[in-house]
Parts: sequence; C-alpha cells; structure tokens
Amino acid sequence: MEPRNKILVHACCASCSSHLLSCLSKRFEVAAYYYNPNIQPIGEYLQRLEEMKKVCLEFDIPLYEGEYDPGAWWQQIEPFRHLPEKSERCWRCYAFRLEASSAKAAALGFGLFTSTLSVSPHKIHKIILKEGEKAAKKNGIVFLGEDFKKKDGFRLSVEKSRELGLTRQNYCGCLLSLEESKNRKAR
Ligand code: SF4
Repeated sequence: MEPRNKILVHACCASCSSHLLSCLSKRFEVAAYYYNPNIQPIGEYLQRLEEMKKVCLEFDIPLYEGEYDPGAWWQQIEPFRHLPEKSERCWRCYAFRLEASSAKAAALGFGLFTSTLSVSPHKIHKIILKEGEKAAKKNGIVFLGEDFKKKDGFRLSVEKSRELGLTRQNYCGCLLSLEESKNRKAR
C-alpha cells in the first residue's frame, strides 16, 4: 500500500473508537494511537487503555500507546483552568494531542492521520479540523478532517460499544471535567 493509504487514528477512548475504527478499516490500513495524558486519575487512564486493547483486538488493528505525561499536558492547560468545557481550555487539549499524534504518524511512515475526537457531540469539529490540519502540515502529512459524529456516527458508536460491552465514560477525561460532571449531577 502507498503511505497515503495508511492512517493513524488518534483514539481518545474505546467507545468513541469502536464504530469509527470498523468503518475506517474498510477504507484504509489503520493503526490506533492512544495518546491521552489528559486522562486522570491514572486508574481511569489504564482502564480506557485496556478497553482500547480489546477494540483493537476485535478489529485486528495495531495499537500504539503514547507517553503518559499529565504534567506536560497540564503546562499547556493550566492558564485556562478557570474556563469551562468547550472553551479555549479544550482547544489547547485537542491541539496538544493532535500535534503528538501527527508527529507519531509521520515517524511511523503514515501519510494520513485523524482523531476520534469529533465522534463526541461535546467536541467542536471546526477546532479539531483547524488544529489537525495545522499539526499535519507541520509534519508533512494530511489530516482526514471528517466530522465523524455525522451520518449517525455518534449513535452508531454508542450501539457498537454496547455490542462490545465497553464502558461509556461519564466525564471527558481531565480532573476538571470530572469535577464538572459531578457538579452537573448534583444540580
Ligand atoms: S474537558 Fe476534555 S477536551 Fe477539555 S480539557 Fe478536559 S480532557 Fe481536554
């Protein structure tokens, strides 16, 4: 296969990846990249990683794990800690993970990369697209900028993750989002 036909998929969690990996593997030679230093506590990070392994085994897709360095991630996010979810705080978080994923794709010889981030209705596609394209350009590759929540993508990912017995997380990943989720429940 030509390098352009190989795609590295930044995967935020197994439930968002399930339907998407199944679809993309019909179009490309796919590998997944679990790079999420935003996820805390560590137990949650490891639990999501285990579920990613299960999904990748199911679809016979190689899985790479990135470095888990919440400190480096926090350095980027800390100035925006007082902002709510779906703000600049999250734009920086997308950018941080997309940049590392793009560099990993290029290092592995993949001509394309993308991310499961747009599967979630809580993520802003136009920002993911902007940051994905910026990161791809920096590494001389291409970002597949489809909005994967479209064409019923989110609903189908919920169905697929139920079918595979995966956990659907009740918070995005960082401790700030965990706190926000608790506050929402309390209201
Ligand atoms: S809510 Fe999600 S996207 Fe936003 S900063 Fe936290 S982990 Fe990142």
